[in-house]
Amino acid sequence: MRLILLGPPGAGKGTQAQRLVAKYGLVQLSTGDMLRAAVKAGTPVGRQVQQIMARGELCPDTLVVGIVGQRIDEPDARNGFILDGFPRTVPQAMALDRILAAKGHDLDAVIELQVDENALLRRIENRIAEMKAKGEALRDDDNAQVLHNRLKAYREMTAPLIAYYRQKGVLRPINGMASIDEVTAAIDRVLTLKSAADGLARAESKKKSEQLSS
Ligand code: AMP
Repeated sequence: MRLILLGPPGAGKGTQAQRLVAKYGLVQLSTGDMLRAAVKAGTPVGRQVQQIMARGELCPDTLVVGIVGQRIDEPDARNGFILDGFPRTVPQAMALDRILAAKGHDLDAVIELQVDENALLRRIENRIAEMKAKGEALRDDDNAQVLHNRLKAYREMTAPLIAYYRQKGVLRPINGMASIDEVTAAIDRVLTLKSAADGLARAESKKKSEQLSS
């Protein structure tokens, strides 16, 4: 299964991705996590993106596409993955299409977590409070000003992907304002319907080829 979780910062993509990992044994590919690891390790990529990320802006498409292209070639991602935070621009989505097409793969679904922007700031504030309570290190980009930039980047650069994937027939909108468990259940329903539809399509194409050969 190859999935994309789409939604603004704070929509719950990371939380739902972790649940999908546990349930379906898929690997979660979070470009934000990969980039933060590069920053932490002080690699050349990390040095290039550190300031961009701290401002809440988007990193260059070619750089991010290169990282994802390599990552989905690794053995643990061959049977499926959940992309969390990628693609974030139409050129990234087009590059992903080319990468998958070259391997003969398709996207199974793009799950769009629809959320009310006003609620996002409260969610981020809750996340900061929880992390502080657990004594966890805070992310550089978890503050109101940077969140404002991240939301602006989402509206201007990422939201056009909704139309892009709707047109391809793979977009599955879900109410991301529901409780975490309800969102998980809605995603489950989408994936169950998708695998039932795939099963039907396979059965029909088998029937057709049997009719042709008889
Ligand atoms: P995230 O953890 O997904 O919220 O990402 C944190 C930051 O990493 C973003 O604000 C961007 O600066 C950068 N980033 C993550 N994914 C991408 C991407 N697909 N394209 C460009 N920048 C990205």
